[in-house]
Amino acid sequence: MSTSNYPEVVIAKGDGIGPEITDATLRILDAAGARYTPTFIDIGEKVYLAGNTSGIPQEAWDALIRAGVFLKAPITTPQGGGYKSLNVTIRTTMGLYANIRPCFTLKPYIPSPFPDMDMVIVRENEEDLYAGIEHRQSSDAFQCIKLITIPGTQRIVRYAFEYARQNKRKKVTCMVKDNIMKITDGLFASIFREIGAEYPELEQEVMIIDIGSARLARYPDRFDVIVTLNLYGDIISDIAAEVSGSVGLCGSSNIGTDLAMFEAIHGSAPDIAGKGIANPSGMLNGAMMMLEHLGQHDVAERIRWAWLKTLEDGLHTADIFKAESSVKKVGTAEFADSIIERLAFAPLHSTASSQSKPSKPIETPPYVRKNVKKELLGVDIFLEWPGDNPAELGALVEAAVIHPFMLKMITNRGVKVYPNGFEQTFCTDHWRCRLLGVDGQSPQRNSIPELIQHFLESGLEVIKTENLYQFDGVRGYSLGQGE
Ligand code: NAD
Repeated sequence: MSTSNYPEVVIAKGDGIGPEITDATLRILDAAGARYTPTFIDIGEKVYLAGNTSGIPQEAWDALIRAGVFLKAPITTPQGGGYKSLNVTIRTTMGLYANIRPCFTLKPYIPSPFPDMDMVIVRENEEDLYAGIEHRQSSDAFQCIKLITIPGTQRIVRYAFEYARQNKRKKVTCMVKDNIMKITDGLFASIFREIGAEYPELEQEVMIIDIGSARLARYPDRFDVIVTLNLYGDIISDIAAEVSGSVGLCGSSNIGTDLAMFEAIHGSAPDIAGKGIANPSGMLNGAMMMLEHLGQHDVAERIRWAWLKTLEDGLHTADIFKAESSVKKVGTAEFADSIIERLAFAPLHSTASSQSKPSKPIETPPYVRKNVKKELLGVDIFLEWPGDNPAELGALVEAAVIHPFMLKMITNRGVKVYPNGFEQTFCTDHWRCRLLGVDGQSPQRNSIPELIQHFLESGLEVIKTENLYQFDGVRGYSLGQGE
């Protein structure tokens, strides 16, 4: 139900199955009496292919900034061709730092080997490898920078603990790979422990992401709230959704200070687009989260009961249909009609899921940057060099080094190959020379350009440099493997 007195909601019907599942969702919202004023925007494939590489025109940005609430269907990101993911662009440009993904089994409506699975994944949404900072650096080597910050991590970890407290959850699990990425994932884990100390009533654990994902697939009911970095969160939420029954079931919210965006967790499913068989539940669950965000808990609840009643009556879309337990296989439109017909009914079996508890907006405190003593210790100079004998390169670099630097080591793909490397180590054309101040002295910053100039004059092809610092006496860079 929409009139101009109701809050504006920006709606994008998206690509692939997007229009089908959006139409189904909006019909249910309207029949249930949702109070909103829709503004439809065109974003995605059409806009990309018309030459806008961000996939989002200015009018769409204006509408999002004005309305502050966005219901978005999945978008197809064209492969290659320099197109940036529109989803990532909106999340990062608008500061949608928290991606909340409830994944739960629908006992007894959809049979599951994990009847008690009811978890919420809180995924960091702006940083990590999704910052999209990628380069080709040499004939052989390509890189993507994993950027993790203190404010970004503090905000998402705080959000996860507050979410757990407000929703009376029992446990928060942090998933990282800090045994390998000690500085970036290590930061995430240490901020988790630091902020976690303020929430003594919550059980807390840090798990390595590989075993964490395995456990999540095998024992999903042992998890409650999970907080993790962007890439891991993306992967484990698809695993969790699939384990819960179908990737087509789960919705998600993307929360920032000025905009909240609601969507399904799945993509545009081009393989089934236009067939009328997609499950609209993911988008509908996203829409229910939106109604709760708008304070329309009554409408969200009415839709939830009708949705559960439809599932309980065995009316299932193809992705969740099972001959032994379903009653009828229905398409997208018939599934929506069935929900609408059941808006006055509640299911016989009630289930307490994460989705059924409205929570008030979570505020995170502003970031306060601490003063730290930063000292320059040296520089990593990256070279493209086509040879395959590290000792030969070592001699060239030793000859190019000037005071106050000394060559500490050369690595290839992170492994020390000079001095005293192993001849078994395979070498590419991408080399890193670690230069430190002699006798542990801190070199002057302006000595680095001079050093690079000397490398260039010696015929070495410098492709990148990275300054080496310590902060309050703690080394701010990783050692080479074998250093
Ligand atoms: P996908 O999630 O679109 O599809 C994966 C599989 O799940 C497919 O077999 C699909 O048919 C099935 N599936 C997905 N949603 C379903 C539903 N509602 N009902 C029934 N089955 C469903 O993932 P993909 O194929 O890797 O990606 C397709 C496109 O979607 C890509 O262009 C990708 O960039 C984009 N994508 C967009 C978003 C988003 O907009 N938030 C998220 C992920 C992927």
